[in-house]
Amino acid sequence: MTIPDWGAVTTPQAQDALTAIVEAFIGPKWDKLDEIEGRIHCIVLSGYAAGGRAPATADVAAAAGLTLDGAASVLRRLSGRDLLILDAGGRISGAYPFTDGPTEHHVEANGLTLGAMCAIDALGIGAMLERDVVIHSACRHCARPLTIRTRCYGREVDQVEPSGIVVWSGHRYAAGCAASSLCTVQAFFCDDAHLEAWRANSPAASREGVRLSLAEALEVGVAIFAPMRMELSPWIPTI
Ligand SMILES: [Zn+2]
Repeated sequence: MTIPDWGAVTTPQAQDALTAIVEAFIGPKWDKLDEIEGRIHCIVLSGYAAGGRAPATADVAAAAGLTLDGAASVLRRLSGRDLLILDAGGRISGAYPFTDGPTEHHVEANGLTLGAMCAIDALGIGAMLERDVVIHSACRHCARPLTIRTRCYGREVDQVEPSGIVVWSGHRYAAGCAASSLCTVQAFFCDDAHLEAWRANSPAASREGVRLSLAEALEVGVAIFAPMRMELSPWIPTI
């Protein structure tokens, strides 16, 4: 799994946003999975794609041919790499780009509604699943509902409502967990005015980042998540 696909980003802003995400998060955390880590990760993502929510640990173990304890041990290693999130009971509650936790980002795909960790993750799901999706989210400033439809198997923006949607890609990563740090500052806004109003009222730590057009943010999402398709394909023959 080679993440990201740098060829997917075509503007300096998209390259800056992707560089920040890679340096803070992906690069140090996601490199060099061993065979079983890679296999379990794919099973978890495939479970989300097929079922709309995290697979149970017992199902992951069965799919991987491991004992329950064996699968739980590998899930903890993946959690340590911040590739997935476990709840207090050790159950999977998220695996980038998907989450079962509270989120303002929901993606219609494959007849399911999938929760996404953040705006960038929501935009990457279509390319990851090689299908067009409808993203429902909300402006982080005014909470207005936003809708984004993709075309070209999730690789281009199609219809958008409202028309001026922009994305903020903030630079915050903490406590070894993007879900509770970096993801919280990857957000959609109605337009630049609402992005600027939100930034003006945000703590200083939330003001560092890159403003992306929707097309640029989609490029960043594709760069991160489209490569996961290669890993998924053996596991989701019905999709
Ligand atoms: Zn707004």
